[in-house]
Amino acid sequence: MKNVVVIGSGVMGRGIAYVSAAGGFLTTLIDINENQLKHAEKEVNAIFEKGVLRKKLTLESMEEAKSRLHYSISLSQNVKEADLVIEAVPEVMEIKKNIFEVIDQHAKAQCVFATNTSTMSPTEIGSFTKRPDKVIAMHFFNPVHKMPLVEIIKGLETSEETALFIKRAAEQMGKETVVINEFPGFVTSRISALVGNEAFYMLQEGVGTPEEIDKAIKLGLNYPMGPFELGDLVGLDTRLNNLNYLHAKLGEKYRPAPLLEQYVKAGRLGRKSGRGVYDYRSKED
Ligand code: NAD
Repeated sequence: MKNVVVIGSGVMGRGIAYVSAAGGFLTTLIDINENQLKHAEKEVNAIFEKGVLRKKLTLESMEEAKSRLHYSISLSQNVKEADLVIEAVPEVMEIKKNIFEVIDQHAKAQCVFATNTSTMSPTEIGSFTKRPDKVIAMHFFNPVHKMPLVEIIKGLETSEETALFIKRAAEQMGKETVVINEFPGFVTSRISALVGNEAFYMLQEGVGTPEEIDKAIKLGLNYPMGPFELGDLVGLDTRLNNLNYLHAKLGEKYRPAPLLEQYVKAGRLGRKSGRGVYDYRSKED
């Protein structure tokens, strides 16, 4: 397998495109929004350059990897040659459905489709295609170039062959893997959404400032990041979408905190919008 197409050049897609090109795959990153694609290219180049400075890769291997990575707004055209498509568009089923219907029409019969969904059902996503045995969730973590895990989630119809194919691809991208069976929220999102939401309830109740709550969790529970630092990194809109989905599937304990909903309504989405729980506008490098 040689050709990887990554759909969605946001927080996750750009990182996935980076590890894919660095891992030796011919990679095309696609977005409907040209501006977003330009931002993604800038950020991916910055990750490459930092990698060279930190001696994680040589100048020559950076140039080779960059030459394997292309950016495009044309989905149907690029998907034709793909061996693996990784979808990283927003966590909204209707958007994902449209994408999978389109790629199913244009991709080769043997092409495998992966979704980077944090919570949604790969079985349901597979049902939008005529190849449910070749559809799987390939859940990367943020920031993709630093986080070691890919959580691989098999849907009801996903074949063992597809799971093995994805495991090998993830390993070639430098990642460790776990392979699990589908249940809403998988392993990681189920825990992470609960902790992040509870922190918002605490903030709403006036238990402490974001700084105090984050510090308590980091130093008292030995988490590498506080729940608000992580929420701002993940994107509060993405976190809210995850919670809405888990609330519908798993019940009351996942009801999104009203304060989180208010932040999203105000456009305070986290690092990507310059302001979330914390303010990044003067601190961005
Ligand atoms: P994001 O909002 O940062 O980026 C989504 C991108 O998809 C945007 O650039 C948007 O322009 C693009 N897009 C929208 N519709 C499109 C279409 N029809 N065709 C092509 N591009 C389209 O979202 P994100 O945070 O990168 O999340 C993407 C997926 O990854 C979601 O399913 C999310 O749950 C999952 N995820 C997110 C994180 C995280 O920390 N943010 C971690 C793991 C998994």
